[in-house]
Amino acid sequence: MKKADIGIYGLGVMGRNLALNFNDHEFGVSVYNRNLPGEEDLIAAFSSGEAAGTPIRTFNEVESFVASLERPRKILLMVKAGPPVDAVIDQLTPLLDEEDILIDGGNTHYSDTNRRLETLSQRHLRYIGMGVSGGEEGARHGPSLMPGGNAEAWPPVQPLLESIAAPSPEGGSCCAWMGPQSAGHFVKMVHNGIEYAIMQLIAECYQLMRNGLNMENQAIAHTFESWDSGLLNSYLLEITTRIFNTEDESGSLVLDHILDRAGQKGTGRWTALTALELGVPLPLITESVFARSISSFKDLRRQASDTLRFEAGGEPNAISTTSLREALLGGQLVAFAEGFWLLKTANEEFDWDIPFSEVARTWSGGCIIRSALLQPIATSFRENPDLPHLLLAPAFREILNAVQGGWRSTARFGVERGIPVPATTAALSHYDNLSTKRLPANLIQAQRDYFGAHRYERLDRPGGTFFHTDWTGGHKG
Ligand code: NDP
Repeated sequence: MKKADIGIYGLGVMGRNLALNFNDHEFGVSVYNRNLPGEEDLIAAFSSGEAAGTPIRTFNEVESFVASLERPRKILLMVKAGPPVDAVIDQLTPLLDEEDILIDGGNTHYSDTNRRLETLSQRHLRYIGMGVSGGEEGARHGPSLMPGGNAEAWPPVQPLLESIAAPSPEGGSCCAWMGPQSAGHFVKMVHNGIEYAIMQLIAECYQLMRNGLNMENQAIAHTFESWDSGLLNSYLLEITTRIFNTEDESGSLVLDHILDRAGQKGTGRWTALTALELGVPLPLITESVFARSISSFKDLRRQASDTLRFEAGGEPNAISTTSLREALLGGQLVAFAEGFWLLKTANEEFDWDIPFSEVARTWSGGCIIRSALLQPIATSFRENPDLPHLLLAPAFREILNAVQGGWRSTARFGVERGIPVPATTAALSHYDNLSTKRLPANLIQAQRDYFGAHRYERLDRPGGTFFHTDWTGGHKG
């Protein structure tokens, strides 16, 4: 029997849909899942369900699964990130031959991927850490794929991965090699950080329309729908509109019944922590993580709302939804700018060469953050790969000027009405900090020198020369 082109270990939501996707593209597919006593038999369910009538081969034993694969074997791991990936690697490696390829498609922390690459290269096995985005639908019909790791592993898997990925509006498929080590998983982590930010920005517009402008759900739905075009056209706005049009059996909007406590699996937090470690200021992404965190303190918020609630007096200082739209566009640009700034810093810090225009192209289809904005972003990086900051790209100069008024009124409106807009204001702070030639950091330096003799540089002397003042001795009285 002809050996399979690819093996998939893990038949959860992602694994089984990716298996069907590979099969649609006429690759031979073998699949395996562990079978725990007392748990649902995912292999039998898949074989008699979605995979029935397809040539996909299902296995109950890992040995026969591995033996069914064409060499060099290519096995995509779609299991829960963390220790399960180590357990699966330990189970598979004794069965593999040199140059076989393991691909971890889970949401793995990049440091784990670096560690596994090191260990597996000592065993002459090739390893790829691959970011996958697009959820269940993407996995089934075309995800965005961000592979990185052993460069020698790329040519054998490239045709398979490019075939199943979503087509990019920029041309080619939404799959590109991100670079050595854990560059692929790092890019996926940043993707998720941007995702947190855009979701929070949209949610703040909802809150401002609902609580600030007293708009009904239907009007909010129409507004979101009308925004979903031009540069704001995006998957997240599209699903937001659909959410506003989804009713339960009783005919009421499902959204109105959902507890306002946001979950998180940690990838946004990883992005914020990595930014802090690498010294890259990402206020928007970080605030978006905090916004989810504070939402989880539902009881505390309920208690505080009784005593701390600010009631704005007088007439509501109403603004138009056009201003909100401008704030969303400005904020989304900052979200992408923060993500690419972190990628740029990672390139410098880890000696990687993540191709920014390819990242933007890979994100322009198939993934959760796909957006019309990614096309001018890809072009900007293609024209100038050394762009120091995305907001400095000529393509965005006019847009940033045009949204200023509405962006600032939106932030002011939220602040004046006591409606929390942490992401909208953090995005604006990023913009204002970046565009301020002289920040008050001279005072910070003076304070540091005062209490800790940390010294400072002077504007009127060459950089790198440090001074200390005897602050108490020089007191004027
Ligand atoms: P599911 O929860 O649907 O499936 C998890 C899979 O991991 C199951 O096959 C499970 O097997 C297996 N597994 C868990 N623990 C072990 C273990 N110790 N040994 C062997 N297998 C184990 O997850 P998803 O398919 O949604 O996600 C898989 C990976 O892809 C995760 O890393 C996730 O973060 C990532 N991802 C998910 C996306 C999504 O939208 N769902 C999008 C992009 C990436 P069993 O049933 O036997 O427990």
